[in-house]
Amino acid sequence: MRIERLEPLWPNSKKGCMALAFDLDGPTGDAMLNHSIWCNPEYFSFGGYGPFRALGRLLDLLDDFTLPATFFVPAWVIKTWPNQCKEIVERGHEIGYHGYKHESFFTLDREQQFRVMEKSQHIFWKYLGQQAKGFRTPSGDWHKDTLSILSDFGVIYSSSMRGDDRPYLIHLNNNHPLVELPGKWELDDYSSIAYTRNPNFPAGLDRTASYRLTLENWCFEFDGAMDEGLFLTTLFHPKIIGKPGRLIILEKYFEHICGRNDVWFAKGKNVAEWVLKARGYNNER
Ligand SMILES: [Zn+2]
Repeated sequence: MRIERLEPLWPNSKKGCMALAFDLDGPTGDAMLNHSIWCNPEYFSFGGYGPFRALGRLLDLLDDFTLPATFFVPAWVIKTWPNQCKEIVERGHEIGYHGYKHESFFTLDREQQFRVMEKSQHIFWKYLGQQAKGFRTPSGDWHKDTLSILSDFGVIYSSSMRGDDRPYLIHLNNNHPLVELPGKWELDDYSSIAYTRNPNFPAGLDRTASYRLTLENWCFEFDGAMDEGLFLTTLFHPKIIGKPGRLIILEKYFEHICGRNDVWFAKGKNVAEWVLKARGYNNER
């Protein structure tokens, strides 16, 4: 594996690039994988609020600002809330892979990862009539075999790592590098405004951050990245940000980011396709 650093290069002479992204995890994750969620209905309902209740509001807000977005969705969520997930696609947004029940790929062997991807691809075809080109690691990290498995399933980009604020290419043992669109915890709504009990988050049940300061932080991150002509994506979760009070943060954030005309707002797959094309790679996989 070889990593190739790239200088930013954006279409239509735009200075910076913003790819809004939401992780529609629903109730999937560790508690579902260890089955404890089935004796913790409150926690299940906390997660279910995302696809069941918050998603529609988010889609409406994105419409209001004509902003494109990518939703990384565990296939179990698509199977459980198919109509809500179909609406994401019908309203012009992208859906990317995010595990079946939000597995940590780092903990799975090659065969197990393959089966998660195979099951996910089947569900994407069955309920959405498409397969995904993008992938975001659920629960943090990937295994040494993950990249070649993603390539086998036609994935052209990942948005999982942290080490840069420009897209970069990861070269495998073939002619199709994987584009990495790195994110950052500073634009993860969990790190400032998530609050759940049993399991406790934040640990010790401290207070969440101020909504006003959260908005301000996100605006600083956007301004800094765009001023330097870089790439930015978000790790927002509908079950966290898609509640009426928090949606005001997002509305004001969208007002702020749409105030610039030198930014390319794009879905992850469009950014990845642009990067590959600009470097002379054929996107047809
Ligand atoms: Zn997730």
